[in-house]
Amino acid sequence: MTVNTRMPESLASATGTITVDLAQIVANWRALAATVAPARCAAVVKADAYGLGAERVIAALARADCNTFFIATPEEAEVARKFAPKADIYALDGLVGNSAPAFDRLLVKPVLSTLDDVVAWSALSRARGGDLPAALHIDTGLNRLGLPLRDVRRLADEPSMMKGVTLELVMSHLASADNPRDPKNRDQLLAFETLSALFSGIPRSLAASDGLMLGPAYHFDLVRPGYALYGGQASQSTPTPVKPAVTVAARILAVADVLRGETVGYSATWRAHRPSRIATIAAGYADGVPRSASAPDGKPGGQVLISGHLAPIVGRVSMDLITVDVTDLPEGAARPGEFAKLIGDGLTIEDAGFAAGTIGYEILTRLGHRFTRLYLDDNP
Ligand SMILES: *Cc1c(COP(=O)(O)O)cnc(C)c1O
Repeated sequence: MTVNTRMPESLASATGTITVDLAQIVANWRALAATVAPARCAAVVKADAYGLGAERVIAALARADCNTFFIATPEEAEVARKFAPKADIYALDGLVGNSAPAFDRLLVKPVLSTLDDVVAWSALSRARGGDLPAALHIDTGLNRLGLPLRDVRRLADEPSMMKGVTLELVMSHLASADNPRDPKNRDQLLAFETLSALFSGIPRSLAASDGLMLGPAYHFDLVRPGYALYGGQASQSTPTPVKPAVTVAARILAVADVLRGETVGYSATWRAHRPSRIATIAAGYADGVPRSASAPDGKPGGQVLISGHLAPIVGRVSMDLITVDVTDLPEGAARPGEFAKLIGDGLTIEDAGFAAGTIGYEILTRLGHRFTRLYLDDNP
């Protein structure tokens, strides 16, 4: 495996690095595909592949023969088509603004979630004099995007509304699949089986990263994981057979002693109850460390790894900097110029999310653009 450092000079002076292991993302996709076979496994690469770089991630997965991608927006559709020229690409947000002609040109299939979208896509198709492909999203209880029951019935009764549209997928999305014991999973499964039967013969898709761990009944023809591809553990109780694919590290700028009774950081929210040693690290909320990972006096917040030792954030997370308590680390473990790990080596994106009152998904998608990005290649 090779480290692709396209900008070595910037690495030498980088305040931080985000390392994306493309080989691991491909391995994760393969592991998920094996888990759900004979169902097929797509890749959800919306939001710049969850913040990790859509171009690199899509190209790597396409090389590994992943042939179905989901993005959200028209702009993401352009990138996906460029880096996966032959793949099936679905746009989850459906027809946004006047995106229909662009989707047509890019051969991207909109996920139709409203009757207005269905009518508009059908009109374009008839104007073009040909069949345009699409997915149909039906709501089974999430009450977010997706056709509600009465609109699904109406479409089934009036197929002329969809004239010119070739349905290639019928899908729905689960609300509580991260908790296998939630009875809502079964309710949505039954609703999906009933409603999708109105479009018989069309391939079906229900499960994302968490749902695919609910077992084969939830796999249908295609599963749509995003988070798990990037190493995320979406299910609360069932380990997903994937490994972390992202490491975030930031430079230690200074290590200083503070006297007992001194405070650290903005608004003086943390006070040293003993003579303490504080390391200041070049990562802040502009880099994706949530401000809610701050640790005011007496309350735990986020943690970092320094030479393999966990050290707690103390005081406020600021835009460019965090302060961590290294008093209990061995002498010399925290050295200016070295890198501390914010994510990686056992410190997971779930850990980082939990410490900040959020989820790993938000940690990934909010990683900043100031750190140097390194990609471990998928083709060594
Ligand atoms: C984002 C999304 C997914 C992927 O979800 P993960 O939890 O990241 O696997 C799948 N389907 C829909 C409709 C989505 O919006």
